[in-house]
Amino acid sequence: MCDRCDQRTRRQFLALTAVSVAAGMAGQGLMSKPANASGKGTSMTPDEALAMLKEGNARYVAEPQLCETQLELRRAQVAKGQAPWAAILSCADSRVPPELVFGGVNVGELFVCRNAANIADFATIGTIEYGTEHLGVPLVVVLGHTRCGAVAAACEAALKGAKFTGYLGQLIDSIMPVAKELCKEGQPTLDVIRGSARRTAEVIANDSEVVKRLVSEGKVKVVSAMYDIDTGVVEFIG
Ligand SMILES: [Zn+2]
Repeated sequence: MCDRCDQRTRRQFLALTAVSVAAGMAGQGLMSKPANASGKGTSMTPDEALAMLKEGNARYVAEPQLCETQLELRRAQVAKGQAPWAAILSCADSRVPPELVFGGVNVGELFVCRNAANIADFATIGTIEYGTEHLGVPLVVVLGHTRCGAVAAACEAALKGAKFTGYLGQLIDSIMPVAKELCKEGQPTLDVIRGSARRTAEVIANDSEVVKRLVSEGKVKVVSAMYDIDTGVVEFIG
């Protein structure tokens, strides 16, 4: 294992041990609330969680290797309670695995929802409400990505009238307002991907009364981002 991986593993181990001890004790009824600002879950603030993701992605880009993550030990640590520190809504695309894209994040750290084109339907928003309100997740990231097939399909539908049947058709329909506004003939779909991720983040932050309240209390931030499949870089949009 390289020195950098070793440092990461040691630092991660220390940070996560503190969290999982609190979560585990709470799960056993030995402690009514983990010791942190929100009364449950991680003690990280939204900005600290965002900085952690940025640091992890920079590590993934600079030295894209899989660090030793002590999976067996970590699995045991979080078995009785979880305290994830970021929720990621990403595309189901197999090239966009959040735990790897953010630098080798371990079991029990990220609360992940995935579907084609990272859209916010009732199941996704309900899942994020559970993560933020009941698990104390301080940061929600809607993560679009370059070369997204679902967004490309929406542009095909917007520009050429392509039809998609079944539930996939309904999924594509949900991206159509952004696709009709931003898709341009012969142009890359990057603006559409950014616009769709930003819109989804706004829907989560505004349509969910739970998330809206947590955001107004300063306990949660909802941001959008785009992952570049070629370079590995995550661009945080806002
Ligand atoms: Zn995609």
